[in-house]
Amino acid sequence: MRRPGSLTFVLLALASATALAMGPRLPMIDGHGHYTVAEAEVLPPAAVLAKLDAAGVRRIVVSGAPPELAQRLYRAAPGRVIPLLGVYGRGRDKADWMRDASLPQQVAAALAGGPWAGIGELHLFARDADKTVFADLVRLAAAHDLVLMLHGDAEVVQRALELAPSVRVLWAHLGTEPRPELLAAMLDRYADRLWIDTSVRDERIAPDGRLLPEWRALFLRHPDRFLVAVDTFSLNRWQHYEAMVDQIRAWVASLPPEVQAKLLHDNAARLFEGFLRR
Ligand SMILES: [Zn+2]
Repeated sequence: MRRPGSLTFVLLALASATALAMGPRLPMIDGHGHYTVAEAEVLPPAAVLAKLDAAGVRRIVVSGAPPELAQRLYRAAPGRVIPLLGVYGRGRDKADWMRDASLPQQVAAALAGGPWAGIGELHLFARDADKTVFADLVRLAAAHDLVLMLHGDAEVVQRALELAPSVRVLWAHLGTEPRPELLAAMLDRYADRLWIDTSVRDERIAPDGRLLPEWRALFLRHPDRFLVAVDTFSLNRWQHYEAMVDQIRAWVASLPPEVQAKLLHDNAARLFEGFLRR
């Protein structure tokens, strides 16, 4: 007769065999995350940290809406949360923030209540790249030595980098037009000031988990400029967090070991070095 629990044993043995075949999980920093009211209601900070643990994620870059939610998470685990000052929530959103003339002053005041590692994520496109509110936020980021996370086209990223010669930009989702040759040209032009996160683009760069040669070539040419990330823009993505991290780890695993370590962890650690050292 079958002993009770033997099926469990077989399943556990299979799981650990799979884990062994994949090798130990490298440390990871998730370079792009969100935590909003809808998520905070279901997942208190302890539950978020349990999600990170289950996925082997050491740290996460988080923007809150309203912004204080990122601080709530940070206070629960200061060593694991890299908080960005978001500007959305309470009636302001990604479509209209650039028209709110009171925003720069509010951001300046909020920065004093930090600590903050950056400002963003800001959604902006070429037609609005000349807005004064944007220019003011870029200058605030530069003045406070903060990373600016931008979701936008190349024109917007260029505008930020030209407005403030010392500002550092984290460009979300491989940009709005994810083409290796475009990104390579931007990285060549803005060495040491531009970083790019791969969030939400895993299927595009690695269909069915197989990294395409043109993306491999880009990561090998600029191994210090890319951060992997999930982008938890919804509760659903938080609920499937571990599976999404596994998807990232699967394509990263085909890169040389030193490049894997950079994309998974070291590039983010270097970009946010000042904040992590404080
Ligand atoms: Zn995002």
